[in-house]
Amino acid sequence: MTPHHWHATAAAWALHQARGTLTTRAEAERRVIVAELLEPPSVLRSPVWGRRGALGGHSDPTTTALIDAERPARRNRYAELAADITTRLALPAGHLPGDGDPLDRITTAIPAMLPGTAAATTTLLVRLDDRIRRELRMGPARRLLTGRECPACRHRLVYEQTLGPTDAWTVVCGADCRCTGVGCRCGQPGAVEGVPHIWPRAAVIGAVAGATPSPTT
Ligand SMILES: [Zn+2]
Ligand SMILES: [Zn+2]
Repeated sequence: MTPHHWHATAAAWALHQARGTLTTRAEAERRVIVAELLEPPSVLRSPVWGRRGALGGHSDPTTTALIDAERPARRNRYAELAADITTRLALPAGHLPGDGDPLDRITTAIPAMLPGTAAATTTLLVRLDDRIRRELRMGPARRLLTGRECPACRHRLVYEQTLGPTDAWTVVCGADCRCTGVGCRCGQPGAVEGVPHIWPRAAVIGAVAGATPSPTT
C-alpha cells in the first residue's frame, strides 16, 4: 500500500458513507412525493365516491388513480443524484472482476491497483463524494485528532479518517504538508514525492481500539 492506495481507500470509505446517507434521503424524498400525489386539490372529486374524505379519503382507490393520472410526480433530485453517482462508478468498475455494487468492487480492487490507477481512482471518488456532501450539506468524513502532531511537519492539525474496517483507518495532516520522497520525515515505506501525507492510523497512534482515542494515548 503506497500513499496513493491509502488515499484511495479513505476516499472509497468516505463515499460509502455519503452514498448511504444519500440513499436514505432519496427514500425519504420518495415518500414525501408519494404523499403529495395522494393529497388531491380540494376541488377534485371522484365520480364514484364523491368528495375526498367522505368515505375514507386516501384509501379511496378511485381518487388515487385520478390523481396519479393528472399530476406528474415531482422529480426526486436525491434519487437522480444517487443514480448518476452509481453510473459514474460503473464505468471504472466495469473493468474489474465481480458483478456487485460498483463501489464495493472498486474498494476491493484498490490494494492491487498500480499507484497511478489508485491516484486516478482517488480523484474520481473524492469528486463524487464532494458532490453528495455538497448536496446534503454533510460535513467531511475526517475528524480532528486532538493532542497529536503531524509526524512529518509537526503541525498540531491532524485528522483521522475512521470509516470502514479498522485496517483501512488513516491519519492525514491538516497543514497539507507533502511528502519529499525517499528520506522524508514521514518515515513511510513507499514514500512518494509530492503526495499529501497520509499514514495508517495504527502507525501514528498505535493499534488502539475504538474511533476516539484519548489525547494521552
Ligand atoms: Zn504535516
Ligand atoms: Zn513523506
